[in-house]
Amino acid sequence: MAAPATVAVPKPKHARPKVADQKMLINGKWVESVSGKHFETLNPADGSVICRVAEGDKADIDLAVKAARAALETGPWGRMNASGRGRLLNKLADAMEARKDELAALETLDNGKPIADALAADVPLSIACYRYYAGWADKYFGQTLPIDGPYFAYTRHEPVGVVGQIIPWNFPLLMQAWKWGPALACGNTIVLKPAEQTPLSALRVAQLAQEVGFPDGVINVVPGFGPTAGAALSGHMDVDKIAFTGETGTGRIVMTAAAQSNLKRVSLELGGKSPNIVFADADLDAAVEGAYFGLFFNQGQCCCAGSRLFVQESVYDEFVAKVAAKAKGRKVGDPFDPANEQGPQVSQEQMDRVLGYVAAGQQDGARMVVGGGRVGDSGYFVQPTVFADVRDEMKIAQEEIFGPVMSILKFKDADEVLARGNKSVYGLAAAVWTRDVKKALKLAHGLRAGTVWVNCYDVFDAGAPFGGFKMSGLGRELGQYALQLYTEVKTVTMAT
Ligand code: ADP
Repeated sequence: MAAPATVAVPKPKHARPKVADQKMLINGKWVESVSGKHFETLNPADGSVICRVAEGDKADIDLAVKAARAALETGPWGRMNASGRGRLLNKLADAMEARKDELAALETLDNGKPIADALAADVPLSIACYRYYAGWADKYFGQTLPIDGPYFAYTRHEPVGVVGQIIPWNFPLLMQAWKWGPALACGNTIVLKPAEQTPLSALRVAQLAQEVGFPDGVINVVPGFGPTAGAALSGHMDVDKIAFTGETGTGRIVMTAAAQSNLKRVSLELGGKSPNIVFADADLDAAVEGAYFGLFFNQGQCCCAGSRLFVQESVYDEFVAKVAAKAKGRKVGDPFDPANEQGPQVSQEQMDRVLGYVAAGQQDGARMVVGGGRVGDSGYFVQPTVFADVRDEMKIAQEEIFGPVMSILKFKDADEVLARGNKSVYGLAAAVWTRDVKKALKLAHGLRAGTVWVNCYDVFDAGAPFGGFKMSGLGRELGQYALQLYTEVKTVTMAT
């Protein structure tokens, strides 16, 4: 058994925010659920109850969709200038900026991510996303068409309509921003279902959106569970589009529900098993740093985690030793302690699932170099774990683990690693580390993935599209491309 990573068992150093019980937002009002039911949201650092949250179901989704339809068709939103929508998005970004610390603390409390990460990544990236789409609101427009005949023809970019959005628990604030930014810039109205594990930041941002002046019904938030509230939204006959981020299996259910109801538009951002490829001619220390960050960031709970780490044989042993030393030194513990780099997994279920994969790696004969166990017995902490000598056919090389478990595989040359890198049902992201430009381009163009990073990892920007090839999804979020997800193109032809 490998030596455990450096750990600091949770010891509160910063006051956690106190959160009151939460209602849901429908038509500009904070209301209880029709059923009167609630669910508890837990602090993953110790398993305690943070607060109770109104639990939405089909009846609440129906009310929210009605409100969103009315706001789209008869409210002030439909008559607002495009620049007005942009101004509101900027005001929301301003309001978030003024409450950066509060939002980061809420995210850390509900999700368990280190406060330093929430402050450095989740909150500023979310704000930047709203500002980016604020800029697009009055700059995304149609064309005039030189068609034959005595006609004047042009296209209009119209909102798709009422959009349902279902988001996961790993980046709650950011996934909300990726969904709301383009949807609101394009003039849609929204029913959002946040993940049941992490509803708090979505509700807080919704409150800020109301305060800055988004008209009632434009934004509705219905917390609840997937098979109830989520299913009601994806199968609703009066929702024009569903946008989903989560597991590939759930994406299939959402798409089926869309197909079997009203053929609503679907965009999906799903799982991954991203190859991170390190050639012997790379800056090895930079590659070690990038591989470490690309896997362990956010407790390994990233759809684009570099979870198949391919290292060329001549530098393999050196690389494994270096990355293992870093993993061993990773500070795990209370996410409110700014010195900690890793907090708990989001839930008991996720922790158990990750530990199940660790057991599978051992059973399949991978070499455990670091970690492999739980940290302490309170909260859902998992040791940073490194497996070397992983082979393509092993479970830990094929399935998404969504935890701090690194799998290192050895390769000989570029052709071999390109073929092996592409041998996956997923195609979300990939990375290549090399000083050889030709090799970098060969891999960047040959890898079947929506994003390829070269000599870097997890570089995100609101302007750079993100999404998957193959079973990693459908459509692209962020950048100009995301506007297409939230726009219907109408052709108008007039006889002259
Ligand atoms: P995870 O298992 O990691 O929580 P999921 O894909 O199950 O990932 O969850 C992502 C989001 O999808 C959550 O908001 C969840 O409630 C929702 N969800 C889960 N099951 C369904 C479903 N059957 N229909 C619609 N949404 C669902």
